[in-house]
Amino acid sequence: MYRYETHLHTSPVSRCAGAGVREQMRFYRELGYDGIFVTNHFLDGNVNIDRNLPYKTKLDFYLSDYFDAKKESENLGIKVFFGVELSHAGTDFLIYGLPPEWYQAHPEIMELGKKEELALMRSEGAFVVQAHPYREAGYIDHIRLYPRSVDAVEVINASRIDFENRLADQYADNYGLLKTGGSDNHHGFASRLAGMECEEPVMTEADYGRLVREGKARVFTLNPDRDSHEWFRREPEGCFTVQLRTNPSTGFDWDWEADHAEGIAEESREYLRKESEPALCGAPSFVRFVFRPSVPGMQSVTFRYRRSWESTPPLRTFNLRFELKQDGRISLPRHDFTE
Ligand SMILES: [Zn+2]
Ligand SMILES: [Zn+2]
Repeated sequence: MYRYETHLHTSPVSRCAGAGVREQMRFYRELGYDGIFVTNHFLDGNVNIDRNLPYKTKLDFYLSDYFDAKKESENLGIKVFFGVELSHAGTDFLIYGLPPEWYQAHPEIMELGKKEELALMRSEGAFVVQAHPYREAGYIDHIRLYPRSVDAVEVINASRIDFENRLADQYADNYGLLKTGGSDNHHGFASRLAGMECEEPVMTEADYGRLVREGKARVFTLNPDRDSHEWFRREPEGCFTVQLRTNPSTGFDWDWEADHAEGIAEESREYLRKESEPALCGAPSFVRFVFRPSVPGMQSVTFRYRRSWESTPPLRTFNLRFELKQDGRISLPRHDFTE
């Protein structure tokens, strides 16, 4: 069996990603995967470049992480495939099987409505998947389904909750659409994963669509019972945990500031080594904060990765918004990474 990550983001191209191509590739190689599809947010989504620049400039930047990964493929011992995640107001589509040159030759896609854009892509051989169709978030106005415009539905997205994934599975069943799974991995190290398992190795991007159509690829999951994000957990009771990558031997480390300092307390801070890293002094690790919020309502905490003695802007920031409900529950956060 050959395993593939079909939904993955890398920094710096995806603005919301916290891991670069090498970190992602090493992570999946250690898990024994045969390959990954790099599916960064396209120019219509959360791409990390000025929208006012010309299409070609933006596309060159967009493709840079994929080409970087492709170049390292042999070195790091894992195959790299090209994919794209298109966005329309919080509704997302994964596109497989169109090469980078296709996007270079089709700047007009930026002017098309999603229905027309997807139809064009499919007519040119793309395999189109509606990603996490039932995702809900503060920035998504409503759920949109495109049952006539896609080949498949991402029925398990490891970053979404089971409730949304179950609905996605019913959506696929009701319309007779194919099913795929992926992790939507933005941060490398993650314990809850989903992907596709194939009877024969995927050789090309077009091959992947064919294997799904022929029933030779199926969804698999790893640690489906874990929380979706390693870095945020609603535990222990009444608290939440935030886990961030750090390397204190460089002098850089995380500090935090809350918008209501009296509304939240740091219960503990602990440094952990990534199990896959050798136990070397100076090896990167994680810092795990446990916070106890005490004032009901929406709050925000900003984490900064910096050298405490320097006044230059932080190397990375992480902003987390959460809500302490009247009944003591902590609601799903909004989060943004910048790097
Ligand atoms: Zn993202
Ligand atoms: Zn994604």
